[in-house]
Amino acid sequence: MTAAAHTDTFGRPLRNLRLSVTDRCNLRCQYCMPERDYVWLPRQQILNYEEVGTLVDVFLDLGVTKARLTGGEPLVRRDLPELVRLLAEKPRLSDLAITTNGVLLADAAVPLRKAGLHRVTVSLDTLRPDRFQALTRFDDHARVLAGIEAAAAEKFQSLKLDTVVMRGVNDDEILPLLDYGRKVGAEVRFIEYMDVGGATRWSPTSVFSRVDILAAIARRHGPVTPIAERSSAPAERFRLADGTTFGIIASTTAPFCGACDRSRLTADGQWYLCLYAARGLDLRGPLRAGASKDELARLITEGWRERTDRGAEERLGIRNRAPLVGVETLRKNPHLEMHTRGG
Ligand code: SAM
Repeated sequence: MTAAAHTDTFGRPLRNLRLSVTDRCNLRCQYCMPERDYVWLPRQQILNYEEVGTLVDVFLDLGVTKARLTGGEPLVRRDLPELVRLLAEKPRLSDLAITTNGVLLADAAVPLRKAGLHRVTVSLDTLRPDRFQALTRFDDHARVLAGIEAAAAEKFQSLKLDTVVMRGVNDDEILPLLDYGRKVGAEVRFIEYMDVGGATRWSPTSVFSRVDILAAIARRHGPVTPIAERSSAPAERFRLADGTTFGIIASTTAPFCGACDRSRLTADGQWYLCLYAARGLDLRGPLRAGASKDELARLITEGWRERTDRGAEERLGIRNRAPLVGVETLRKNPHLEMHTRGG
């Protein structure tokens, strides 16, 4: 049975947990990890799967029903299907998904499906191999497409493609990406470029907004119909006359903090209540010191009850918006990075 959800100061329920399983990544996307060097989390601080399972049990006791594995790149974490199996066996977890860059997905799709994973989202920002290399610094475009096709063949409950649209970089690929998504049976979600920690090259002029995206699609496809649905999911969904559906995640120009039921557990057990939060709550320390599940539950409940975060909305109110955090600060505190926190 699902536990009654705990609510924060704005009445938002604790329902959705992002589990960053590693801060490491095998790509260096311009909008996320554009620097040459990074400071990594110390290995001995990374939670093992048993520890992750224990914390997830506490979150399930408190009403969480959905979890998403992310990172960093979750598929670089060794034996990830073992964690999927451990989580998929928890009946109160009604939704178990992964966000991956797809580079290692061709070999992982079958083991992930067998382990009980429900849904897959693959980040795909371009259909052009040369542009992929410029965007990510790796020549892995063909592997990503093979990963997407392998996932499509496994018939997960859903397959989605996430595209961060950057003005002057890939805004000319919105229509081809929609066509590609239709071809492989995946819904595409266009994401506005966000000024999160790690996006050190962000500028307001590089954002290709929800309005711009809708206009580009309407120019080719005619009327775009919003799909009315009540959901805490970040994407607003739309339908085209030919039945194709797609989503837009407009965190930068039209944030949706009021519906945010998400929190994030980093690979080293720090719990963040907002993508933009300056500080998290240490759960690894108490867990390793032998705290009981009740004690951990108390920490989490108190943290959530006091939650006032509405980071994206606060960013929207800032004039002369610039990157959230400078490189030197990120090096001193890698927990501020999107790739540590789990996008
Ligand atoms: N490595 C995996 C991947 O590439 O999907 C999971 C982690 S990645 C941080 C998760 C998501 O965050 C991806 O869809 C990525 O596109 C998105 N992301 C990272 N930086 C972003 C930014 N500055 N603006 C918008 N989305 C961003």
